[in-house]
Amino acid sequence: MTPAPTAPTAPSPACALPGTPLAAAAAGLDACVHCGFCLQACPTYVNLEDENDSPRGRLVLMRRLLDGDIPLDDADTGRHIDRCLGCRACETACPSGVPYGELLEATRATMAPVRGTPLVARVVLTVFRHHALLRAALFAARLVRDSGLPGALARVLPARLAFPMAMLASTRPNPALAAPQWLAPATLARSQLAPSQLAPSTLAPSTPAPSTLAPSTLAPAPAPSAALLTGCVMSGLFAHVNAATETALTHNGFTVCPTSGQRCCGALHAHAGDLAGARALARENIAAFERANPDLVVVNAAGCGAMLKQYGHLLHDDPAWAERAQRLSDKTRDVSELLATAGPVAGTRPIPLRVTHDPPCHQMHAQRIVHPPLQLLRAVPGLTLIPLEDADQCCGSAGIYNLVEPATSDAVLAPKLARIAETHAEVVATGNPGCSMQIGAGLQLAGAKTTVVHPVELLAASYRD
Ligand code: SF4
Ligand code: SF4
Repeated sequence: MTPAPTAPTAPSPACALPGTPLAAAAAGLDACVHCGFCLQACPTYVNLEDENDSPRGRLVLMRRLLDGDIPLDDADTGRHIDRCLGCRACETACPSGVPYGELLEATRATMAPVRGTPLVARVVLTVFRHHALLRAALFAARLVRDSGLPGALARVLPARLAFPMAMLASTRPNPALAAPQWLAPATLARSQLAPSQLAPSTLAPSTPAPSTLAPSTLAPAPAPSAALLTGCVMSGLFAHVNAATETALTHNGFTVCPTSGQRCCGALHAHAGDLAGARALARENIAAFERANPDLVVVNAAGCGAMLKQYGHLLHDDPAWAERAQRLSDKTRDVSELLATAGPVAGTRPIPLRVTHDPPCHQMHAQRIVHPPLQLLRAVPGLTLIPLEDADQCCGSAGIYNLVEPATSDAVLAPKLARIAETHAEVVATGNPGCSMQIGAGLQLAGAKTTVVHPVELLAASYRD
């Protein structure tokens, strides 16, 4: 175990990194009182048992970088910063309001020019930055997936190669939602229709949910228009979820407004410290949604939704874009958040599945959206909703974390799979493609029968005639 860093006791010296993103975010560091309330919420601390891999420890490392006590290319510090999942569970746990996610991105952006970026990450970020490359890559991935090869290879390849294959295989439309017995409406007993499976308090956030809108804010006035962020991975590998999202929006009284010119949201770039890449993609998306001019922008991938809501902060220093970025952030809603304000309209077709819900970190911690996905699931008749123990813990996906930090990712995923197994659920519902692929691959490689869907898929399936 690496010795724990100690908090600075003397007044900080002058900033050693003026003009860097970390220096710009430094005020956030001052909010940390080193109380340690965040430690047990942190999956890397819980799994690695090293204070340097805790939020408090990383904040001390950030302070020491800023004070010039540690050089930006220090390998040990880089490793502890790299191992952070960026799940932001520490923000939810922190009573002092430390903006940990912002500090992490600023630290990575400050270190990246000196340390460099790992080859795998560089390749992924380059592909996601260039639309034509990304489309080609996703087209190829779809062809391979639809051949059925990844599922077969995942069964015979060594673990490190099997996992990405299983992730790709897990993106196929879930056959559970096309079960033939549901083709004709069934009659359910009233007890089966009662939406009482999960007490709301089970997943209550430890702080108020600022982005969970009061109904009056979003009362669906006559056919408000909603533009869907079709996303890169979502449109390439989860087109069925996008289709389900449009079905659910329409069924709940929204007019879906097509928006051309969309790009990757830039979350992967921001999390990896490539803020210039993230800003460039943000500007393209802002311009695209301005042309479409919807009342609201809807996102069905929690990581992308959290990113769009941060555009205002990301571009706050850019006079030409700051206001435009904030306008887009202000009109962005997670699909569950938006549908929950509309009721949502209850389904009519029973979906007799045992379902457990795993909330993505970028929905629960970054956006503080807790109850809306459960409201969607409760609107599905016949569905049995089973509480998931430690649902607020990360699954280990975290963008490309599972590719660049596979050992820690596996360690974080293992308890999640164990908790899912305890539920005996047939289906896990989760609202983020990374989590869906991570959990789906883990379940597949563990030989489990449980599969993964997006909550909105279940709701849309219950709307079918
Ligand atoms: S809970 Fe907040 S204030 Fe306390 S140590 Fe963690 S980050 Fe710092
Ligand atoms: S973001 Fe997640 S992994 Fe990183 S320090 Fe916070 S709780 Fe730990």
